[in-house]
Amino acid sequence: MREKYVMDFHEGSAEMKSLLGGKGANLAEMTRHGLPVPPGFTITTDACRRYYEEDGKLPEGLIDEVALAMKRLEGAKNQTFGGVESAPLLVSVRSGSVHSMPGMMDTILNLGLNDRTVEGLARSSGKPSFAYDCYRRFIQMFGEVVYGIENIYFEQLYHSMKSNTDTDSLDHLPQEDWQTLINQYKKAFASHAGRPFPQDVHEQLELAINAVFRSWNNSRAVVYRRAHRIPDDLGTAVNIQAMVFGNLGDDCGTGVVFTRNPSTGEKGLYGEYLINAQGEDVVAGIRTPLPVSELERSQPETYRQLLATCEQLEKHYRDMQDIEFTVENRKLYLLQTRNGKRTAQASVKIAVDLVHEGILSRTEALLRIETGHLDQLLHRAIDSSATLDVLAKGLPASPGAAAGVAVFDADKAEQWAKAGQKVILIRMETNPDDIHGVIAAEGVLTSRGGMTSHAAVVARGMGKPCVCGCEEIRIEQDAFSVGGQTVKEGDWLSIDGATGRVIRGTVPLTEPEMSAELLELLQWADDIRELKVYTNADNPADASKAREFGAEGIGLCRTEHMFMSAERSPVVQAMILAETAEERAAALQRLLPMQQSDFEGLYRAMSGLPVTIRLLDPPLHEFLPDLEQLQERLSSLDSAFSTGNNEDNRYGEEREELERLIRKVKRLHEANPMLGQRGCRLGIVLPEIYEMQVQAIFQAAITCCSEGIRVIPEIMIPLVGHPRELEILKEMVHREAKRLLAAAGQELPYKVGTMIEVPRAALLSDQIASHADFFSYGTNDLTQMTYGYSRDDAEGKFLAYYVENRILPENPFEVLDTEGVGQLIEMSVNKGRSVKPDLKAGICGEHGGEKNSIFFCHSAGLDYVSCSPYRVPIARLAAAQAAAASKTVAYSG
Ligand code: ADP
Ligand code: MG
Ligand code: MG
Repeated sequence: MREKYVMDFHEGSAEMKSLLGGKGANLAEMTRHGLPVPPGFTITTDACRRYYEEDGKLPEGLIDEVALAMKRLEGAKNQTFGGVESAPLLVSVRSGSVHSMPGMMDTILNLGLNDRTVEGLARSSGKPSFAYDCYRRFIQMFGEVVYGIENIYFEQLYHSMKSNTDTDSLDHLPQEDWQTLINQYKKAFASHAGRPFPQDVHEQLELAINAVFRSWNNSRAVVYRRAHRIPDDLGTAVNIQAMVFGNLGDDCGTGVVFTRNPSTGEKGLYGEYLINAQGEDVVAGIRTPLPVSELERSQPETYRQLLATCEQLEKHYRDMQDIEFTVENRKLYLLQTRNGKRTAQASVKIAVDLVHEGILSRTEALLRIETGHLDQLLHRAIDSSATLDVLAKGLPASPGAAAGVAVFDADKAEQWAKAGQKVILIRMETNPDDIHGVIAAEGVLTSRGGMTSHAAVVARGMGKPCVCGCEEIRIEQDAFSVGGQTVKEGDWLSIDGATGRVIRGTVPLTEPEMSAELLELLQWADDIRELKVYTNADNPADASKAREFGAEGIGLCRTEHMFMSAERSPVVQAMILAETAEERAAALQRLLPMQQSDFEGLYRAMSGLPVTIRLLDPPLHEFLPDLEQLQERLSSLDSAFSTGNNEDNRYGEEREELERLIRKVKRLHEANPMLGQRGCRLGIVLPEIYEMQVQAIFQAAITCCSEGIRVIPEIMIPLVGHPRELEILKEMVHREAKRLLAAAGQELPYKVGTMIEVPRAALLSDQIASHADFFSYGTNDLTQMTYGYSRDDAEGKFLAYYVENRILPENPFEVLDTEGVGQLIEMSVNKGRSVKPDLKAGICGEHGGEKNSIFFCHSAGLDYVSCSPYRVPIARLAAAQAAAASKTVAYSG
């Protein structure tokens, strides 16, 4: 039997999302529960996939099924599609894929109107203006969606007709004028579409279905999917639904309501309502709507019903809902419900509140939170003590502070951002065609539209600060004016999405604070996670910050960062340039106390927790000045001398010194430093450096222990590829430790381990494990060497292309390549533990703070992940999610 492409709303349910799309599945679910949803049916996503398989032809039999469904709909509504005698059946044709992609694909309203049915609608409603206005909207929407005609061609006609009348609405326009306007619309349609406006309602429907399928691949939908990592091959469903009218007069209207505040998470109806308006008007941000409480004032009964329905839906879906509704002559209709998009702050508050309300379990709440959301919560806000040049105030649509230069056009925003400029995108209102500009911008400011306008919804979804509906500002071309001041393109501007403030210039920002809800949630995370979370830190400030965020130790301290300060680099240079062992020893003796105090700082910040210190990793020439600069200095020295500008007689001396430096830099130069004399290779060839570091580690430990601090040092040898390398250096560490501890009469447990970052080390992990107390996967280098990419070259050159063209699913330096690099890690852990069952293993690359990579670490049986301080809370959550997810699988399996 051929598959069925059409399902009536009462046949479907919420579980059928992938087949019916989110919108269709939820319309079906609401219908099943007896909520007032206008009747209709859904064309499945199967049909859309078929459509693309057959190069843009509707699948065979679809139109027949649609015709039958339309017959059923006619029966349900007691109206005729294309009927002229009484009220004609009109429908909306709405897209809707599995993932909600607000406004990215197309919807057509009032389909079924033509020159004849419009008369039927005028008669049956008794409101000719209403009927013509619906027709006008339909021609415009149909033209736009099906034939790509820009709406400006229609809007112009509308506005010039409006300016010829006395009132600012067309409610009382005489019939002849309406006829004229409709004729102008049809003309405009014909001239841009290259064909007359279709009068056959069945043809209208078929064209509309095609257009919705096509809109799956329009550029804004594609951009949105990329940004949200939604696969391209899911396809969209098409929902065909009887129209209801919010534009029949003042006891009608349309609105969008959230069951909780999507910005803060506060419980209570939160939304907007537009009297005498049709659906699109609210979301398009064309008129700034009233708060939904307006409905409570004008229609208390309808409001109460809405409130009850909202509660019912929230309980049913066990999540905050974003609901579209229309009131037609005081009767409430529901047109959509979905889990509402929300800010990070709201998402945490809602999840925690739902647990307290007994609706969710703690584990469910943890699984609800997107790790990306936590990332945003740890963003900075405007320092409240700063004096600000506040220019205007709009609606606080998406929190967070952003600063950038003003740009008034999405294309330009994208270009400037690509060139490295931070920009704030400023628009009267945004629409889906601006999506690339929103992605590129630090934040978005609009002068029109409410909290549910396109700009607000999209910005919240992306976690970008947004201020919208800032009606005080007057936008012209490339500038806006407010209170006698002007902000031009390129001027610096800040916005505060938490308060709605628009501020001239850049503003001081403060560190994020964790809300009580977030702290509670992370506590739940700690209760169930199995991975420990360490941090990568090489100074006490970062270490303390990380500890505040819940870090349980330092997984990676990169000691090279301690070599780079202005005060130290001359000493480091002297050490590198030393011609004799004595000279080198002298320089190292000067570095020793500095290193020692570094480690003391870390131990104090991390008292009682492990501190993993990696011995020096990069090649030495990284600490020397740039060769080209030295050569330039030499030639300018020479030319100064030849023009007699060198007063003192130090020319010869200076020249000699420079030449010495150049010789040394040249000698240390490597064709491929990433694969050169670095890490343990350097430590073996020049043992004094590592010896000094080990001394500093233990002397610092001895000092701290005497102060009562609990010190747990773990010494990590980088870049081991052969077991012998580790063996030599491990013995050196033990020798030094023994000597120093004995001299101090102290005992101190410590560990010596290695980074696994050379594929050979992963392959020989059993041999290496016999010399190691722990393994730490340095996934940055391990990825470089497994793929054979040098990160700097790859990211600057081909990697973006690879990801864009889906040659690679992700940038492997951001998301761990579990198939390749992950295979090495799993094999290595297993081999290592086959020799040493209690071998401690973790990861310390940038992947340690990334969700999918953390899931992998959990399943590979690692003991810990280590990430930058600000990602510690994210890692705690992701580790808990991984634990919860693997348990769920285990139960259901
Ligand atoms: P989106 O996914 O972009 O929100 P929708 O398909 O939900 O697009 O429709 C756009 C607007 O049209 C919404 O405001 C919706 O409520 C309204 N709408 C859709 N179908 C109908 C209908 N049958 N009657 C009245 N309004 C409708
Ligand atoms: Mg909608
Ligand atoms: Mg490395």
